[in-house]
Amino acid sequence: MILDGKKEASLLREKIKKEISEIKKKINKSPGLSVILIGDFAPSLIYVKNKEKNSKEVGINSQVIKYSKEVKESKVLEKIEELNNNNNVSGILVQLPLPAHISKEKIVNAIKPSKDVDGFHPINVGNLSSGYKAIVPCTPLGCLLLIKKVEKNLTGKHAVIIGRSNLNGKPMAQLLLKEDCTVLIVHSKTKDLKLECQKADILVVAVGVANLVKGDWVKKDSIIIDVGINKVADKIVGDVDFEQVKDKVRAITPVPGGVGPMTIACLLKNTLECFKAR
Ligand code: NAP
Repeated sequence: MILDGKKEASLLREKIKKEISEIKKKINKSPGLSVILIGDFAPSLIYVKNKEKNSKEVGINSQVIKYSKEVKESKVLEKIEELNNNNNVSGILVQLPLPAHISKEKIVNAIKPSKDVDGFHPINVGNLSSGYKAIVPCTPLGCLLLIKKVEKNLTGKHAVIIGRSNLNGKPMAQLLLKEDCTVLIVHSKTKDLKLECQKADILVVAVGVANLVKGDWVKKDSIIIDVGINKVADKIVGDVDFEQVKDKVRAITPVPGGVGPMTIACLLKNTLECFKAR
């Protein structure tokens, strides 16, 4: 089974659009998403453009605030404070990466946790790891939704996650723990990566190394979620060697067209949730 992230994301967007339209009919209000973009890093420009387009399509009032890469950190912090206090803004996102002179920690901490649609604020991270209600980072949330398309009950499954980033690996582990999986995180210092992966009923790969996971790394009938985005000779490929793996497993996400579209759809979902919570 090839997990069609494009199709699933489109279904999710339709659901969100419908809900926003129903809310608007009742109270004449819609969610608002403010995106801060600093500098002109090409992938960030593309991501922000897609986020803006997708937001508008579902009825979210999207606003992009652009700064040059020389902008002072204090100016960005002031803007975040203004957005924190603006009742029309349901969600705030600062597109990463940031220029070196701007502290990611300060920026992430400045966003009001209830408007932190990326789920990066320590309050949301803490709530997620405590098993409380939290805003969950969009990519792992999208991965979980795709896994659940294949298998609703994940109790007792052996889940292995390659990568321990705050963005992907760690929140993914928390989500799968919450689903009663037995969870293992592996990373660049893990002794026998292949052996650990071979035990996985669910394997989530978030590394950034093209075709790292080979056919003999995966268990028969497992679920493979490939988060990686790598450019190889003008082609985008994942962290999993798709051709070697696809016929051995029960389900696999392609790259592109797997996790990527779900990430943006989950951003819209988080924005709607923040709006409803207010
Ligand atoms: P990251 O912060 O660089 O983390 C990468 C992780 O992979 C680290 O934990 C690192 O281990 C581990 N790693 C690196 N090389 C390894 C190896 N050879 N064997 C085992 N583990 C290894 O990356 P990230 O932000 O999580 O992103 C990972 C990938 O996902 C990237 O390709 C990124 O572009 C992609 N991504 C996709 C989406 C999407 O929507 N599809 C969203 C975000 C990111 P150490 O901790 O030991 O260094």
